[in-house]
Amino acid sequence: MNLVLLGPPGAGKGTQAKRLQERYGIVQVSTGDMLRAEVAAGSAIGREAKAVMEAGQLVSDDILVRILAQRISKPDCAQGFILDGFPRTVPQAQALDAMLAAKGLHLDAVIELRVDDAALIERIAGRYTCAKCGAGYHDSFHRPRAQGVCDVCGSTEFTRRADDRRETVTARLEAYHRQTAPILPHYAAQGRLYQVDGMADIDQVSAELVAVLDRVPGAAARAAGDHEKLMSSR
Ligand code: ADP
Ligand code: ADP
Ligand code: ZN
Repeated sequence: MNLVLLGPPGAGKGTQAKRLQERYGIVQVSTGDMLRAEVAAGSAIGREAKAVMEAGQLVSDDILVRILAQRISKPDCAQGFILDGFPRTVPQAQALDAMLAAKGLHLDAVIELRVDDAALIERIAGRYTCAKCGAGYHDSFHRPRAQGVCDVCGSTEFTRRADDRRETVTARLEAYHRQTAPILPHYAAQGRLYQVDGMADIDQVSAELVAVLDRVPGAAARAAGDHEKLMSSR
């Protein structure tokens, strides 16, 4: 099952992608995480991306299409993937369609997480992650069970993103509305677009996503990797 999670910064894409990864055994592919790793490593791509990301703007389509093509060719993507943060422009969406078609693949569903701008600002301002395993938390909405200790790996070190400052958030929301939202009609025209209310709490949003995916033709069987079941149901 190949999915795209679409939505503005702070909508909950990363949080939900991690849960879907567990449930369906498909990998989360986060272009934001990949770019942050390039920045941390000081690679050529990282050096080019750093200032653009800190200004809340989008890194070039050229770089993104290249890193995504490499990533989805890796063996762990063969059972399926959840794209989190890609595509973000119409040219990226078109490049993705072409890339998948060349492999005889397609997207099963594109899910838009809908959240108001005011709620996004609050979510981003309170966001932090475990420095060791990357688990996501929030100052008010999702605290670790034991204060200061990661639920997943027990680490006591956490980080906040350089671009999660209030000044940058406005630029990122603007980039979403201007450059990313125009992708929605592209997928609606293909009949692959589903919408989920992202304003509900984290567990409710997860339940709604599962309900939506249950309705996607053939998706659940493909997620199980159960090709026999898929064949006999035809
Ligand atoms: P968020 O989760 O807040 O939506 P991401 O972690 O997905 O943010 O992305 C962080 C930053 O990385 C973006 O603001 C942008 O600069 C860059 N980036 C990530 N994915 C893409 C993409 N597909 N195209 C262009 N830039 C991207
Ligand atoms: P995105 O990947 O779309 O930028 P995240 O998954 O990182 O968004 O979520 C942004 C912040 O909001 C995180 O701190 C996360 O813990 C919190 N969060 C995610 N989903 C919800 C929700 N449904 N309600 C409240 N807070 C949420
Ligand atoms: Zn952790």
